[in-house]
Amino acid sequence: NKELICIGELLIDFICQDVGKNLKEGENFLKKAGGAPANVAAAAAKIGVNASFAGCVGEDPFGDFLIASVEHFGVDTSMIQRKGRTTKAFVSIMDDGERDFVFDRGADAEYELTGFKARYEKCEVLHLGSATALLGGKLKNSYEEAIKLAKINGGIISFDPNYREDLWKERKEEFVLLAIEYVNKSDFVKLSDEELLMIFEKGNPDDALDTLFESFKGIAAITLGSSGTLLASSDKRVLIPSIKIKPVDTTGAGDAFVGAFLSGLMIEGNSREALNDFAVLEGITARANKVAAMVCTKMGAMSSLEVIDKRK
Ligand code: ATP
Repeated sequence: NKELICIGELLIDFICQDVGKNLKEGENFLKKAGGAPANVAAAAAKIGVNASFAGCVGEDPFGDFLIASVEHFGVDTSMIQRKGRTTKAFVSIMDDGERDFVFDRGADAEYELTGFKARYEKCEVLHLGSATALLGGKLKNSYEEAIKLAKINGGIISFDPNYREDLWKERKEEFVLLAIEYVNKSDFVKLSDEELLMIFEKGNPDDALDTLFESFKGIAAITLGSSGTLLASSDKRVLIPSIKIKPVDTTGAGDAFVGAFLSGLMIEGNSREALNDFAVLEGITARANKVAAMVCTKMGAMSSLEVIDKRK
């Protein structure tokens, strides 16, 4: 049974509901399940592939809530570990549009592969999409180990650097170096257009892609919001348009795109062959754009994945 494993963080976002107030003044917070790799697993499971989330949540009610949140979409949670307190991110948007942000890192950093090595060796696709793993902790070591294990039997390595200004603004250069290192270990990478320009330090996407493909041998999907996705290999670049929708909230669109793209590879039959066939990838990307666009029509990151139809 083919498996997609998404490894990284599953955390609580506490979103301040008091318009314009900072975290000192704000009183009302909405509690939401978050974590990019968990969103990818949820999107893939909702589409109908066998998707697991691997990470650590707290031994607390928040951990219970998070596990229930991903199980709701059909995610396999048997690889989730529980230690200490759940990781929490508090955010408010202030009057000037700036974000006030407090990150209370806890359990996500503690994830170890212990006991699950055989699952990694057998997996069809390993997705690394954590905004927190590169920060360090045991989770970062687990990333290294998981990649090695997944490669033993030819598993596809997928990577989304998920740059978060809130987390990295003082360590941007370090982030760029780490992101390049992980890109080069991967078969598939998803980058937003901003990430592409930032990581490869270029003023336009074409030059940045030239630099990317100097060392990267795989497939890149550059997400362009309402314009769709630029699908690229070392010798081909094709813009795959998205569909026209009325966006309500684009949070999590990138994760839904990745979940749908990786599901598309798995549904094709042989994921590795699909990844090597550009014409097949164009079709998969068009469908993933459609899924991501639909997710933009509903509020929320994980909760908006509800709009995805199962297809198999
Ligand atoms: P995220 O914002 O989730 O971290 P991202 O920056 O990669 O990730 P976007 O580029 O905004 O996300 O969106 C990902 C995909 O979703 C796009 O490639 C596109 O297919 C689809 N999409 C996003 N916004 C729209 C929109 N307004 N209309 C149609 N499709 C959209």
